Amino acid sequence: MSAEERFDPISRVGAPDALGQAVRLRGWVQRSRSSGGILFLQIRDRTGLAQVTAKRDRIGDAAFDSAEHVQIEGTVEIRGSVAEDQRAPGGREVRADSVTVLSAGEPFPMFQEQTEEFLLDHRHLAIRSPELVSVFRVKAELLGAFRRFFERDDVLEITPPILTGNPAEGGAEAFEIDYFGRPGYLSQTAQLYLEAMIAPHERVYAITPSFRAEKSRTPRHLTEFQHLEGELAWTDLAGLMQFIERMVVDVLHDLAKRRPEELKRLGRAPEELRKIEAPFERLRYADAIEWLAGQGFPVTWGSDLGTAEERALTLTLERPLFLTHFPKEIKAFYMAQSPDDPRTVEAADLLAPEGYGEIVGASARETDIARLTERIRATGAPLEEYEWYLDLRRHGNVPHAGFGLGIERILRWVLRREHIRDTTPFPRTPARHTP
Ligand code: ATP
Ligand code: MG
Repeated sequence: MSAEERFDPISRVGAPDALGQAVRLRGWVQRSRSSGGILFLQIRDRTGLAQVTAKRDRIGDAAFDSAEHVQIEGTVEIRGSVAEDQRAPGGREVRADSVTVLSAGEPFPMFQEQTEEFLLDHRHLAIRSPELVSVFRVKAELLGAFRRFFERDDVLEITPPILTGNPAEGGAEAFEIDYFGRPGYLSQTAQLYLEAMIAPHERVYAITPSFRAEKSRTPRHLTEFQHLEGELAWTDLAGLMQFIERMVVDVLHDLAKRRPEELKRLGRAPEELRKIEAPFERLRYADAIEWLAGQGFPVTWGSDLGTAEERALTLTLERPLFLTHFPKEIKAFYMAQSPDDPRTVEAADLLAPEGYGEIVGASARETDIARLTERIRATGAPLEEYEWYLDLRRHGNVPHAGFGLGIERILRWVLRREHIRDTTPFPRTPARHTP
């Protein structure tokens, strides 16, 4: 018999037919109290929590003495039977016939009020808190929801490289590494590789870590984040925005359906997510600048919008907002020039409502090889490094468009976390790459 089969999940204790039945459980002690020869243990596994009562005269002196000394987060194995108890969570308890201590453990350091720094230094233990447990279950569901959407929409998952020979988004924010004596870089975006993959597959996506040596410490920047990128052949900016809003709505509704309890526990009513529908509002950059200037923001045409401006634009919204048609100088070299205005590019940022800021960066890609070459030159990067990318315009050049979405960014908004680090188990920021 395998080890898996011999134990009941703790959720079994609450099952309608479990009353009076024998169970065998194992898990982590969350709480422990003993009085007058009775030990009360609360134990946890991935499926739930149960209260266990163990009597000295039932389990024996030796077992009782050792069980009494189990620390919080110590592990135990319990045999017993399920009984009714109105004071226990869920109205049930397990009356133990035996308690075996698997690991008594040392005093768990996570209980008193702790500083933010202490909690981050002990992140490997803090991730057991009920709040973080819920966050990472929602995150897993979110990743699954995106994959389910792409599967239904016939978009192929691909696996681009993380180690690269040139920084795709510009050198300043690239982490350089020693690649056998030559410079190498940790990927900032897989986009150029996705563009290569559309010739054979037309519709592709990838979920990979991206790395940005962000100098600014903000509540929405990590130095390592999960990047969902998609690239679609035969599409322009308008078509891409429709795809993105359909994807975001689908994923939010899926999440509301599959994880309502965790969402509620984290302060987000599932109904709020269900209410979000397409289409999202579209606002041109030029109009946004005019409105912001009218509100007293120090911006003129050509200004890059920061956190404060994005916040002002979205604070009272209930749905995300597309900001479109930015000046080409503030956007990446591969974005297509607008057909009706050579000063702007066919780009859109999707801003989350309630002031959470950018969650998606998207654009139609420049297909004109002369213009593209000129834009690469203007970045100051050596053209030879982009020869392979220019090949994509020489062989099977088609209109195409794509986007990058920060998984932790969308999760931060959905779960209304103040800081993006609370959407990832082991956050990487300028100040910290351990534990
Ligand atoms: P920002 O202006 O907020 O720094 P960006 O313009 O640098 O964003 P893109 O290069 O367009 O972002 O990347 C695509 C998406 O990846 C962004 O919309 C965002 O969701 C996410 N993203 C970018 N940088 C980070 C980061 N440092 N931490 C977490 N997510 C990020
Ligand atoms: Mg950035």
